[in-house]
Amino acid sequence: MRVVTVTEEEGQATEGAAAPRRRPALSPSRASDFKQCPLLYRFRAVDRLPERPGPAQVRGTVVHSVLEQLYALPAAERVPETAHRLLQPTWAKLKELPELAELFAEGAGEEDWLASADELIDGYFSLEDPRRLEPEACELLVEAELPSGVLLRGYIDRLDVAPTGEIRVVDYKTGAAPREIGEAKALFQMKFYALVLWKLRGVVPRQLRLMYLSDRQSLAYQPDEAELTRFERTLDAIWQAVMRAARTGDFRPSKSRLCDYCDHKAFCPEFGGTPPEYPGWPEPDPGIETPLDRVD
Ligand code: SF4
Repeated sequence: MRVVTVTEEEGQATEGAAAPRRRPALSPSRASDFKQCPLLYRFRAVDRLPERPGPAQVRGTVVHSVLEQLYALPAAERVPETAHRLLQPTWAKLKELPELAELFAEGAGEEDWLASADELIDGYFSLEDPRRLEPEACELLVEAELPSGVLLRGYIDRLDVAPTGEIRVVDYKTGAAPREIGEAKALFQMKFYALVLWKLRGVVPRQLRLMYLSDRQSLAYQPDEAELTRFERTLDAIWQAVMRAARTGDFRPSKSRLCDYCDHKAFCPEFGGTPPEYPGWPEPDPGIETPLDRVD
């Protein structure tokens, strides 16, 4: 599902923006999709079948937006009351999207859902005090090209840079998927950002920090050059596999317990469905992520 246009995305903070904007790129979400199931990748990136975001996914988008707005305020104002006050107007704006019109039929469940978003905000404040932080950027769009020519593109929830130049990448997890499934995907995503930043700035981030707002726990991870070099080869291999499938249209289904979260079972041969006719490689770029893509 797409909730922002390319033009809106271009209005956000951008790093490495010299790269051509419409060139096909690999994003962490799409790379994860392809690893999980090539047919899922095709449905999302090539066919662009619509998806109906669930309440947990939309709640994650709203909470990410509240935290982004919070960090745009002077440090002294970054208190829980301010964040809670931002919640309603943020949701009011988002719910105008036609895709979300039926999320709560006649408002049923909306109040409880908003209360659960408030709990996630409280979870955030239990983990850190934003008055003590001055991030370099929030919702930062980054792009970097690998020597192989593969273009990587993704969004970083928050980038903290210490006076010493050490970089910390922060990602907020608002959690719909079970933690054990989400964690491998989250680490993949964080290594992706670490690699992009290393390419862009010549510095390996000192820390990758995952903040689980629901569990009120943080997970810190320290990447190193050898690991990111191996990861670069992994991404090259994924992109080559995407390109091979793109030429032939042979995107195979790969059944797993994650099929429970797939919106496209009706078109999936593993569940008795038939995919639509392969439309060919899409233009423009299939690598663009939306805010909803980035939430899990
Ligand atoms: S239902 Fe499972 S196998 Fe089928 S497309 Fe979705 S993720 Fe892939």
